[in-house]
Amino acid sequence: EAPEVEQELTDGFHLVIDALKLNGIETIYGVPGIPITDLGRMAQAEGIRVISFRHEQNAGNAAAIAGFLTKKPGVCLTVSAPGFLNGLTALANATTNCFPMILISGSSEREIVDLQQGDYEEMDQLAIAKPLCKAAFRVLHAADIGIGVARAIRAAVSGRPGGVYLDLPAKLFSQVMDAAAGEKSLVKVIDPAPEQIPSPAAVDRAVALLKGAKRPLIVLGKGAAYAQADDAIRALVEKSGIPFLPMSMAKGLLPDTHPQSAGAARSTALKDSDVVVLLGARLNWLLSHGKGKTWGEPGSKQFIQVDIEPKEMDSNVEIAAPLVGDIGSVVNALLERIDAGWQAPPSDWVESIRSKKEANIAKMAPKLLKNSSPMDFHSALGSLKKVIAERPDAILVNEGANTLDLARGIIDMYQPRKRLDVGTWGVMGIGMGFAVAAAVETGKPVLAVEGDSAFGFSGMEVETICRYELPVTIVIFNNNGIYRGLDTDPTGRDPGTTVFVKGARYDKMMEAFGGVGVNVTTPDELYKAVSAAMDSGKPTLINAEIDPAAGSESGNIGSLNPQSVVVRK
Ligand code: ADP
Ligand code: MG
Repeated sequence: EAPEVEQELTDGFHLVIDALKLNGIETIYGVPGIPITDLGRMAQAEGIRVISFRHEQNAGNAAAIAGFLTKKPGVCLTVSAPGFLNGLTALANATTNCFPMILISGSSEREIVDLQQGDYEEMDQLAIAKPLCKAAFRVLHAADIGIGVARAIRAAVSGRPGGVYLDLPAKLFSQVMDAAAGEKSLVKVIDPAPEQIPSPAAVDRAVALLKGAKRPLIVLGKGAAYAQADDAIRALVEKSGIPFLPMSMAKGLLPDTHPQSAGAARSTALKDSDVVVLLGARLNWLLSHGKGKTWGEPGSKQFIQVDIEPKEMDSNVEIAAPLVGDIGSVVNALLERIDAGWQAPPSDWVESIRSKKEANIAKMAPKLLKNSSPMDFHSALGSLKKVIAERPDAILVNEGANTLDLARGIIDMYQPRKRLDVGTWGVMGIGMGFAVAAAVETGKPVLAVEGDSAFGFSGMEVETICRYELPVTIVIFNNNGIYRGLDTDPTGRDPGTTVFVKGARYDKMMEAFGGVGVNVTTPDELYKAVSAAMDSGKPTLINAEIDPAAGSESGNIGSLNPQSVVVRK
């Protein structure tokens, strides 16, 4: 009789963890609960960093921005039905912004869900996720976990990056299989985001157009920041001598103080340019769809668009020279042509941008230097501009209405991927999720500049920031409300619809969890408090009292508010 051999077993829990580790996933952002509580515990025990949040949307936003910062998919782990739906908002936002992310969610039993027999947290999650993300997969057998994780990773980062949903029903986790067979079933994804080389003919076409330009402009978008082709992009701008305009999250690819920056002359640059190179920027609403008043005379513009997604071309206007490929490869191909025979752009164009920019900067300067109380947005942001100039490697997270619009223009950025904000949807609620992931992924100090309203969407995560002792300094621009703090209810019954408790002290929230809270009323106090907080590395929240009358409705995009033409008698 043969001696009994004890068979080594593995199971769904361990296979998921092994598959993630094999593919270099080092961090999971999530909220524990049925059926993924033990998965989180085991992942932590196996050396994966598990960051537990208070709400899934914030964990999802953290995963999304981790994807943007690292070019690896950020992973968010949620429970079934409501937890999944909370995370789904972030997954959809990640997809819209072209950030690679994987939402892994536990789900209920297929047999019961599909017959709609009323399971615990019953929901057909795969069907719901599908239209809101780039790809969605479900794994039913432990032996397929390796291939499922591999597909999710490749789908998230290849081509145009985006969000992927991976559905793992509760039963999967405890399915067992032979350990050796399990190990063999895992897949390491080789070259997950392959280079996409542009065709030589497309490069020729673009270079010919650029050479004939009288008033060329390069628009840098967050696709260029994502690509991590920083040196090549800088070389292209500097060797070509073409003025550049960074979109919000592309700020810092080249310093905002660079002589070729057209940032402070945006309107002139867009209106008067003749050939525009779009480098990882879409002609969506943020660029007025490439037409209309913003872009000057109809027919005055020709576009060269560099994008990894072929379908992006001609999405709003005709693209004269489409350059499909990854930004690193395309920029290197262009650089080869910026050779000895290259003519710098005409000096009258470069000069007109430069003088416009200097005039605008000079006009703004005195507003940033007032040491007034109460503070307005400009005087408060003048202090924060100084803080970032002194700490160029800090990461700035920014959301709000006026707080966003004005900070974007006022605070200069000096290094790539240091400005993280509301992105393509202009969505509120990304603040604390982004701040947590920025600190976790980079280890750099983080400054989150938040409107009081924007902060409210993710404010409970200050507990997360304190719990993990992250080097995050939050500044709340507290003007007592959404846009402004002045609305009243015409009937006299309630507070106005856009106002909050007057004189609220958000700094006390931080103290409740052992962080540092500070209340400031002048730009000098603000500068000192933020500098001290960032030097200490301690989780800190600074409540900055802003004049409730400061700010404008919807910030820069008030024109998007529909107006009633009917006056009720
Ligand atoms: P912004 O809001 O800064 O203008 P968008 O999000 O509109 O930027 O555009 C980013 C674009 O960059 C998307 O169209 C996306 O397909 C593209 N993109 C992302 N990564 C790469 C890459 N590595 N190479 C080329 N294009 C990329
Ligand atoms: Mg406000």
